[in-house]
Amino acid sequence: MDNSVFIVRCPDYDVVGDKITELIAMMTGKGSFAASGEKIVLKVNLLQPAKPEQALTTHPALVAAVARLLKTEGATPIIADSPGSGYPYTERTLDKFYRTCGMSQAAEEAGIELNLDTAYDTVSYPAGKLIKRFEVITPVLEADAVFNLCKLKTHTFMHMSGAVKNIFGVIPGLTKPVYHFKLRDKARFAAMLLDLAEYVSPRISIMDAVTALEGEGPGSRGMPRHVGLLIAARSPLALDVVASEIIGLKREKNQVLIEAENRGLYPNRLEDVEIVGADIADLRIPDYKLPATAVEGSGFGRFDWLAPMFRKRMTLQPRVIKANCIACGACRDACPLKAITIVDCKHAQINDDMCIRCYCCHEMCPEGAIKLHRGLLYRIVNRS
Ligand code: SF4
Ligand code: SF4
Repeated sequence: MDNSVFIVRCPDYDVVGDKITELIAMMTGKGSFAASGEKIVLKVNLLQPAKPEQALTTHPALVAAVARLLKTEGATPIIADSPGSGYPYTERTLDKFYRTCGMSQAAEEAGIELNLDTAYDTVSYPAGKLIKRFEVITPVLEADAVFNLCKLKTHTFMHMSGAVKNIFGVIPGLTKPVYHFKLRDKARFAAMLLDLAEYVSPRISIMDAVTALEGEGPGSRGMPRHVGLLIAARSPLALDVVASEIIGLKREKNQVLIEAENRGLYPNRLEDVEIVGADIADLRIPDYKLPATAVEGSGFGRFDWLAPMFRKRMTLQPRVIKANCIACGACRDACPLKAITIVDCKHAQINDDMCIRCYCCHEMCPEGAIKLHRGLLYRIVNRS
């Protein structure tokens, strides 16, 4: 696997066109990164119908810049994604997301298509270590190559959403909560993500880290944070190694990298990666706000055997802030356990007995109306 990671500084989206050209030239030299006639899916991040400045989704200026370059190579790019958990994968949903996230304008400016085909198919992947069959959206299956245009974001469940996690968006809408339900454990979820990333095998991953998301991401409780970087790699894993280092996410918290090491996938550590275009020492952001997260391990020391009884109280509890809730139902639709109801068309209500702490509701709430409560036991175990 190619272990190079390429970085250019990009202070603002106004200059992203020139900076993407510089980045791709750095990667390919005088070579080409697409062949004439190839159909290329630009797999963007469309988590929510959010405006570009909210930094929840891949910025449209970056998408348009990559599309223009591909067209100069004679390729045919198309923008595609299945939006976040709980949104049905329909033409209506896509149209709403494209317009709100700025993709309609990006497609028009670059003279390319937006995918409106909502078909998907079940594919077999016998090489998968955990998952051997996936449902995958059709444009990805029909493309000659996938360009993985991800966003640098924190993630309450997986700690970081980067290149590997972005590929989860090829799974059609309402199938995503099923994965959250079946793979409640972070290690198993990471194993699924790696199987899927290997199956999709993007030709290039480019990370939008111009304005990233910090804090309680990846949804609207996260906060935009100017980072001013574009990062690219052929290996999504290599890209995540570097992104993780930049935001100060400890390796032992990045389950994707741990799982990669467990299965002998490289690169999975900073020393395995060759960084081109910058010195990592100049890129680290010491005060980058990471999400408050569920405790790793029991934290009970010699009373470890007690942990299963208290596991739920040791994790962050999703709670609805009624004053912020507009009763839109996005959390209810995203919840894989159907643990959320809308009370009297006024606000959401979570049945904590049913909750498995997957945080899909927190991720999908457009109003930031679901907070993650730190109970007493959580605070004792985490000493925070
Ligand atoms: S909590 Fe958020 S997602 Fe759920 S109904 Fe209220 S506003 Fe909508
Ligand atoms: S209520 Fe619990 S199970 Fe349902 S989406 Fe939220 S965290 Fe997941």
